[in-house]
Amino acid sequence: MPKLTLSARVGRIKPSPTLAVTARAKALKAEGRDILDLGAGEPDFDTPDLIKEAAIRAIRAGFTKYTAVDGTPELKAAVVEKFARENALHFTTSQVLVSVGGKQSFYNLAQALLDAGDEVVIPAPFWVSYADIVLMADASPVIVPTTLKQGFKISPEALDAALAFKTKLFVLNSPSNPTGTVYTRAELGALGEVLRRYPHVFIASDDMYEHIAWGGEPFANIVNVCPDLLDRTIVLNGVSKAYAMTGWRIGYAAGPVELIKAMTKIQSQSTSNPASVSQAAAEAALRSGTTLVTPMCAAFKARHDWLHAELAAMPGLRCRPADGTFYLFPEVTEALKNLGLADDQALAEALLERTGIAAVPGSAFGSPGHLRLSYATSDQILREAVARLRRFLENAPRALAHGERA
Ligand code: GLU
Repeated sequence: MPKLTLSARVGRIKPSPTLAVTARAKALKAEGRDILDLGAGEPDFDTPDLIKEAAIRAIRAGFTKYTAVDGTPELKAAVVEKFARENALHFTTSQVLVSVGGKQSFYNLAQALLDAGDEVVIPAPFWVSYADIVLMADASPVIVPTTLKQGFKISPEALDAALAFKTKLFVLNSPSNPTGTVYTRAELGALGEVLRRYPHVFIASDDMYEHIAWGGEPFANIVNVCPDLLDRTIVLNGVSKAYAMTGWRIGYAAGPVELIKAMTKIQSQSTSNPASVSQAAAEAALRSGTTLVTPMCAAFKARHDWLHAELAAMPGLRCRPADGTFYLFPEVTEALKNLGLADDQALAEALLERTGIAAVPGSAFGSPGHLRLSYATSDQILREAVARLRRFLENAPRALAHGERA
């Protein structure tokens, strides 16, 4: 083999930490270790039968060939109807691109919009892949930290300070992965006011968790509150979380026609269309509206309430209740001190080694000193995880000092 010199691009990024934790948990389980996986960001529910049946019908009907790069006309129509029905947003099918999951939607956006020297403003904690996808497009992420005290929300002042001449894109994710924070209409309005002063900035509204939310207000994104921002906003969504369809890999984006066309060009030269059968399934999912989603959301909410109360009472953790998603994001700095551990990565490592609990360190989301716990798992696993975590936090200082198993 000739000397392998990898691209500077690949050197700039790291493997997805969420997927890495999930893979590690699976591998340890396969070795027979007793692992409680609170790392995976995917619903534990099975994809509903109605959706599976649509896919099976599609296979039987021979719907197994290439489709249009940007998605089947039927699925795109279902996306347009979903936006109109659920979000009061009125797009045409030429404003919609269907991709291989929410991740590819954001990747296409970055590739179509960004160049070297461009800046992308991302409030932290942020979903692990935004920053690296920006780096892959040769642009620079500008991370704006937020704290638990602020409810993990970027303030209008902080946004104003971060936006600049070089800013090309601002990324807003509400409900947020990993904090479960939801911006209120008033907060979105205040951010919109700032954005109006920077008319060259595009906005990515990642609404992936819109249906898994229980805050006081019905879901709204920034263009619901500030319709004048529509011509520079790209709305990202997908079926993975709402319909328990992570493996089917269907995400979609809607926005300005020229931008969608450019993103479609990128997709045509990379992956072509998303899987035909998955598109048939996604169409059935979207056409079913929210009836399949509601019971799953209720289950997540019940688990949230229980888990939040448990975490809030644990030594060394500070935990804000979430308004949605299936994550809690406790601050662990006090626990790190108690345990004599260097950082959140050491804590995640110690938890996995000593208790079998898999969780994602906050630093993966740009917020060191935190831990993301996913409660998209059974009540039984959650109960056992809470018992082990409590034991670990209460007894670990002694156990760690003696090199014992907590
Ligand atoms: N979005 C999920 C998570 O945050 C799935 C893994 C990923 O693609 O990041 O865990």
